[in-house]
Amino acid sequence: MFGFGKTQNVKSTPGVNLASVLHDEKAKSEIILNSIDDGVLLIDTNHAIQLFNKGAEKITGWNQKDAIGLDYKSVIKLVNDKNEPYTAEQDPLEQIFNEIAPIRDNSANLKTSSDKTVAISMSVSPLISDTNEVTGAVAVFRDVTNERQEERQRAEFISTASHEMRTPVAAIEGYLALAMNDRVCHIDSKAKEYLDKAHASTQHLGKLFQDLLTSAKAEDGRLQNHPVVVEMGELLQQLTEDMRFTAEKKGLGVDFLIGANTEDALSSSHTSSGVKMVRPLYFVHVDPERIREVIVNLFDNAIKYTEVGKITITLAGDNDVVQVRVQDTGHGIPAEDIPHLFEKFYRVDNSATRTIGGTGLGLFICRKIVELYNGRIWVGSEFGKGSTFYINIPRLSSEKAQELQIKEAAQNLPTGTTQTSKV
Ligand code: ADP
Repeated sequence: MFGFGKTQNVKSTPGVNLASVLHDEKAKSEIILNSIDDGVLLIDTNHAIQLFNKGAEKITGWNQKDAIGLDYKSVIKLVNDKNEPYTAEQDPLEQIFNEIAPIRDNSANLKTSSDKTVAISMSVSPLISDTNEVTGAVAVFRDVTNERQEERQRAEFISTASHEMRTPVAAIEGYLALAMNDRVCHIDSKAKEYLDKAHASTQHLGKLFQDLLTSAKAEDGRLQNHPVVVEMGELLQQLTEDMRFTAEKKGLGVDFLIGANTEDALSSSHTSSGVKMVRPLYFVHVDPERIREVIVNLFDNAIKYTEVGKITITLAGDNDVVQVRVQDTGHGIPAEDIPHLFEKFYRVDNSATRTIGGTGLGLFICRKIVELYNGRIWVGSEFGKGSTFYINIPRLSSEKAQELQIKEAAQNLPTGTTQTSKV
């Protein structure tokens, strides 16, 4: 306000020439830009740097005079967490000319002129002319080394604390189970009822610590991951058999369908005459333990949130992807909750779910694991009718799968088939 009034005074003062007013305006803009602590950078459509403020000098280690006119890529060297240079698709300064909408990147790192790595948060906006053409881009970036360090420490604390707390909780759970075992102890029915409740709460606590530990690891990339060739049909068949018991205990049916024609239940892969039918093989390159976690989580949820009906697991795919679907006939999910479902600690809050225990971490962990394999997870649901969770994972051709299996065998690693049969 104050500055604006002053400018108008200058403009209206007779005898003040335009050149000096413009010079004043430029000087003022420069003062403002250079007093901003964040780095500010302007590039034209040829990627040449047109503006580079003091903040940018401080973060990058580059001198303004040297940086101006250079291709931004020689000055703003962006790298990921593994210190690998950003690809063109990852680089917001490159992408801005394709997307023509502001881009934010909170997980970038920048190599300074002395090759030091600085954690930065960057926001890039296009400059659009009156004729709707992109004439350049402005980037504003900040050194977030301290914030990221604190985030890492917080994740480390959560993972250490949950790891340490799991041990005593497991001991309590074990002793409660012993106390409730008729062959070990004799207790009256009231005491058994209380111990039952204590046991259920301890199990919930144990699951919460386990989920906290896994999600902290998933966030900072420490999740154990040993991908091998896995044939999803075999893995899912075993998993379905393992999980069938829990579903049937609640009176729910379980179907496993496989192949492009999903009407062929897997049980029909052996006909009554004993002739083995051929089914497609769905190879993927994943850690079977991690994928198992995802499927078990989706299956457990399907049981938890379904009162009557059945759970159907379907395996299908095309040349590029393998798709797993976990479908239930349960409560369903309200449309407004769907966009948040895969966020950390998100739980649908309604009368149907309020009494059902959970941590709100399961689907977040599922998403992190699926993304580890460049896959995608999403849900389709009709409230009151049921939900279907979908997972897409890049498919390996049989030739590629064989080639990788030979390599795995040569490295003396167990092959996908062996690992699959273990789970
Ligand atoms: P939770 O431990 O609470 O089950 P999740 O992350 O696994 O945590 O799921 C998040 C929320 O999504 C759940 O609290 C539940 O409200 C909803 N949800 C997940 N799966 C289903 C399902 N199959 N049917 C209905 N609601 C579901």
